[in-house]
Amino acid sequence: MQKVIKQIQLLDLKAQYQMIKEEIKIAIDEVLESGNYIMGPTVKKFEESLAEYCGVKYAIGVANGTDALLLTLDALEIGPGDEVITTPFTFFASAEVVSQLGATPVFVDIDPDTYNLDVTKLEAAITSKTKAIIPVHIFGQPTDMDEIMEIANKYNLYVVEDACQAIGATYKGKKVGSIGNAGCFSFFPTKNLGGYGDGGIIVTNDEELARKVQILRVHGSYPKYYHSMIGYNSRLDALQAATLQVKLKYIDQWNQKRREKADFYSQSLKGLPIQLPFIKAEREAVYHLYIIQTEYRDELIQYLKENGISSGIYYPVPLHRQEVYADLGYKAGSLPESEKAALGTLALPLYPELTTEDQEHVISVVKEFFARKGN
Ligand SMILES: *Cc1c(COP(=O)(O)O)cnc(C)c1O
Repeated sequence: MQKVIKQIQLLDLKAQYQMIKEEIKIAIDEVLESGNYIMGPTVKKFEESLAEYCGVKYAIGVANGTDALLLTLDALEIGPGDEVITTPFTFFASAEVVSQLGATPVFVDIDPDTYNLDVTKLEAAITSKTKAIIPVHIFGQPTDMDEIMEIANKYNLYVVEDACQAIGATYKGKKVGSIGNAGCFSFFPTKNLGGYGDGGIIVTNDEELARKVQILRVHGSYPKYYHSMIGYNSRLDALQAATLQVKLKYIDQWNQKRREKADFYSQSLKGLPIQLPFIKAEREAVYHLYIIQTEYRDELIQYLKENGISSGIYYPVPLHRQEVYADLGYKAGSLPESEKAALGTLALPLYPELTTEDQEHVISVVKEFFARKGN
């Protein structure tokens, strides 16, 4: 007789929906009844709520997290001939936006403990063409913002935080996204604060930057039909804003659950030949993903799969080794820590609604794998 294997997903979006279903339905219906589907009071209210949550003056909703980065860099007049420094160990969008504007991404290797940009290598990458730095709070762990801001101030560079994976995370008590010139968030459904479709937002204390992005997102026009810039059609839908308004109430609670479950993994997996997440002092991570590293990565993924457990690779190819960036000339081995991480890391199932029973099962399967390996 075939044994029935329980399936455990990396992420279960339906579990969260079941808990807030009634509120979401009411919020959606209110928008549908209002007749205001693009911009309007629902979007404005959410922007104000999010600005308050992040402790900044302005929040500007856009179509997705990629556009949040793109419109911000455009507003800062990043363009051909400019260089923008970022990390190669991130989702492609962090560098893609630089290329879309005709500027050149410059990659700095990562700190192998945190997977965030290694600030000790940052200064060496700065040239007379460098205009901005895009630090990424990868997997939800705040990156070294003090060091980055100090270097940025010294060389007069903009700092645009890619906080797409880190909403609610704090660095020395400040929310990520509120420290640089601007912070960018994504509401892609899998993110910690995810909508039911695409969405994104830019947060800033800079009034001029906020104003410019507000104009850029509506085809560079203000007032309507008077165009002062070549812009974009990039707005946060009222329907998404309404659902995000409901979810924003729960984000701290959900992030707390992620932290508790991450701690449970780390306690339980201690002593195995794997690298566990390392969170630096004075920062609170939000564990967008729970990442471990092992030399047996691919075998472990296979073993988990055979036992009904999904895992994920974030990210299999660091950006400096992507085919499209071959012309930038980064050879294999040029940024060794990010290349090593790309080969050894995997994400285990983690989301606020993950049950203790399911998590214990994941832990026992991981332990079993290493026991069979002779550890
Ligand atoms: C998700 C993500 C983005 C892009 O956000 P979208 O809403 O998918 O456009 C950018 N950077 C990072 C680090 C992300 O995780």
